[in-house]
Amino acid sequence: MESYTKLKPFVGISFGMVELNILKSIWSHGIKFVNLKKKGGLGIKDDIIWNKVAVGKLAWWITSKADHLWVKWVNHTYIKNKEWHTYSLPAFSSWYWRKICQVKDTFNEAYQQNLWSETIGNEYSIAKGYEFLRDKGETMNWHNMVWNTWSLPKHGFMAWIYQHKNMNTKDKLYKLGICSDDTCCICGHQTETMDHIFFACDYNKAVIKIVGHGIGVLLPTQNLREWSLRRGGSKIRFELLNAVLNACIYHVWRQRNLSRYELTIDCPRKVASTIVDEMKIRIKGCLMTASPTDKIWL
Ligand SMILES: [Zn+2]
Repeated sequence: MESYTKLKPFVGISFGMVELNILKSIWSHGIKFVNLKKKGGLGIKDDIIWNKVAVGKLAWWITSKADHLWVKWVNHTYIKNKEWHTYSLPAFSSWYWRKICQVKDTFNEAYQQNLWSETIGNEYSIAKGYEFLRDKGETMNWHNMVWNTWSLPKHGFMAWIYQHKNMNTKDKLYKLGICSDDTCCICGHQTETMDHIFFACDYNKAVIKIVGHGIGVLLPTQNLREWSLRRGGSKIRFELLNAVLNACIYHVWRQRNLSRYELTIDCPRKVASTIVDEMKIRIKGCLMTASPTDKIWL
């Protein structure tokens, strides 16, 4: 399990209390945010692996018999002409030597396979070591939707939580005994699930319809997740449409929270107008790099 200490520098630099609470929730649900974005994480490096990999450079110097005074001293003091691959720690060793030997054991497989040979260009680097040790995991097919060039970071972050199905909707809270009912905060008619909020609720349907009309594109009013994975047209169109959907997810969820905690909610037209204004700014940015065909489409 990832330690909470990994969050501290991340939270301290760019996140406030609201985001801290969201990340606490994510952490408690076991989502691996310390991972590559395409693997479902937030693109944060794992500091424990990183430290091991940094120490691994010292172990690699010994393995490759690098021409360093420190390597000569280590050979003379500790290894004493023994085979480094099979070297085992003496009973009483200093903590730093113990750490180097532990990392050597971790990397032994890579050393044996000669992943980092002595030829130029294949030298050990911290980036290569990190790649060797990091969690390979499966690639999430939605990562292009969430992390695309034209999506605002706050929209992408909320879409990332959405794709992990980690929103605290009332159906979950009701089962945990945190709230007294499970009806939708916006319409008050049906059970509040993620599918209801983003696919079935009339409020969301109205927002998406007005947004689609505002930017001149027919957006889906159901099965958002599947639709977002379809690759129609050019990359810029795919990314821009997903940026619009991310904005819808962000703003509809924001209205849901306003309704739940402040007993107020904006009309769909006002929300859609905010989304369209935000997207028009992004579209202006797109026009600078778009192809002539895409410019006509935009
Ligand atoms: Zn509803």
